[in-house]
Amino acid sequence: MNTAHISSTPASCAVELIDSHCHLDMAPYRGEITQVLAHAAHCGVKKVVTVGINHASSLAAIEIAQQHRGVYATIGFHPHEANAVTDASLAALAKLANNDTVVAYGEIGLDYAKKYAEPKVQQRAFSRQLELAITLDLPVIIHDRDAHADTIALIKQGGTLPQGGVMHCYSGDRAFAEEMIALGFLLSIPGIVTFKNATLMHEVVRAIDLNHLMLESDGPFLAPNPYRGKRNQPAYLVHTAQKVAELKKTSIQEVARHTTANTQRLFRLNDSDKS
Ligand SMILES: [Zn+2]
Repeated sequence: MNTAHISSTPASCAVELIDSHCHLDMAPYRGEITQVLAHAAHCGVKKVVTVGINHASSLAAIEIAQQHRGVYATIGFHPHEANAVTDASLAALAKLANNDTVVAYGEIGLDYAKKYAEPKVQQRAFSRQLELAITLDLPVIIHDRDAHADTIALIKQGGTLPQGGVMHCYSGDRAFAEEMIALGFLLSIPGIVTFKNATLMHEVVRAIDLNHLMLESDGPFLAPNPYRGKRNQPAYLVHTAQKVAELKKTSIQEVARHTTANTQRLFRLNDSDKS
């Protein structure tokens, strides 16, 4: 544990936050998950959702969730992994949903910035997984990078998602945010919101009611200021919450109260289970 970070922890850490999107199974956390979670808890981040990006990662997420209090898992094939989506791989993944640490399906969606898989392949993988999430009765976690129009078109085509979902690392404008909210989605705000040049995100946060927002680290990626460029971790969520409070001209307690309640509701995290 980096005690320098703890001693510099702002007093406003006395709030309860949930990191709605982190990748605890990724290499930068190897051997340090216990310390990372202890640091998070110290900063008021007592629950963390660790997100699967393929079969191995979904399995690892479940194992981490089973081993650590306050950690929940999700399963899915990230758009970068769309080439791996087949009947067999989806059937194998679906079996993991029986585990009671699994709270959502994702992250799934479209990434036209990197295009590790052809857009057509990504679109088919996305549609099939939306269908699977409905079958499994799970909320969805959507990854949308430079693909807003196709993302919303495929979501609409897939029909109603009874358990709703979240646009993770939300990067669209206000109009798109309102369209997604009308479809029953929440928006998850990442550490990018602390960057000076994130003006579009600032505008969205100012405009959208706290009832529709969640917070995420997306660790190990996208560390907020003042840790930009370093390995991100759930503890840093307090900086993201603080910036959201500043943009909305409210207190961090108010931001925590809403975003925590929204996350608990979407992922059906009961206070009685596991915590
Ligand atoms: Zn992610």
